[in-house]
Amino acid sequence: MKTLRMEEMNWVDIKKAIDDGFKTVVIGVGSTEQHGPHLPTKTDAIIADVLVNLIVQNLKNALQARTIKVGCSDHHLPFSGTISLKKSTLKAIIHDYIESLQKHGFENIIFIPTHGGNFNPLKEAVEEAQEKYPGIKIFGFTDLLGFVEAEDKIAAEFNITKEVAGAHAGEVETSQMLAIAENLVEKKRFQPGYLGVLGEEEIEKLFKNGMPSLTKIGIIGDPTNASKKRGKIYLEKIAEFLTDEIKKHKLA
Ligand SMILES: [Zn+2]
Repeated sequence: MKTLRMEEMNWVDIKKAIDDGFKTVVIGVGSTEQHGPHLPTKTDAIIADVLVNLIVQNLKNALQARTIKVGCSDHHLPFSGTISLKKSTLKAIIHDYIESLQKHGFENIIFIPTHGGNFNPLKEAVEEAQEKYPGIKIFGFTDLLGFVEAEDKIAAEFNITKEVAGAHAGEVETSQMLAIAENLVEKKRFQPGYLGVLGEEEIEKLFKNGMPSLTKIGIIGDPTNASKKRGKIYLEKIAEFLTDEIKKHKLA
């Protein structure tokens, strides 16, 4: 097939693919929010789109549905350009995606969030939908800690500490963006952001009082030494990790 992205396909070819055994559909759940002075607000959305495309290629029997490009980003609203959905809105969108996709014959519907604020609403929506549609498997990768640990582990292979790798607009995300859309990265503005401890206490503070309570420039991590080459490897390795998680749950 020319593409696995349903948004680039017509209904005839989509129907044929599903009839031929493409019974799994994967959807990225990104955000539209500030990513420091150097990355575009679509960072999480475009990373979700690229990651999911790699995942469906790995799975071989899966199609990609259009990425959800706005998420729950209240904690970034003090920064210009951020658009945030209420938790109930994101859940409603996820429910509507599932209701639509299950009509077409998909047996596995899988959501991959790339933004921390989306993990919880996604978890709730998936649990509710699974009760409503017991005949199909609905899965969201909602292990935020597992996701962060996997990223840190991959960065550690290049001697990048988890503080530098960063949870937001740090070395890992910036490297990925250099690999995806270098023209949208403002390299002259690379600078270290928050490099302190990021434990439960700090994360709670972040969600409650907003990003500026931790960092005035909106970066957690340090993008200074980000690399396009490494970014490509990060994307491939994170996609591999998520593919394995999907397989572990016997979803494809
Ligand atoms: Zn991000």
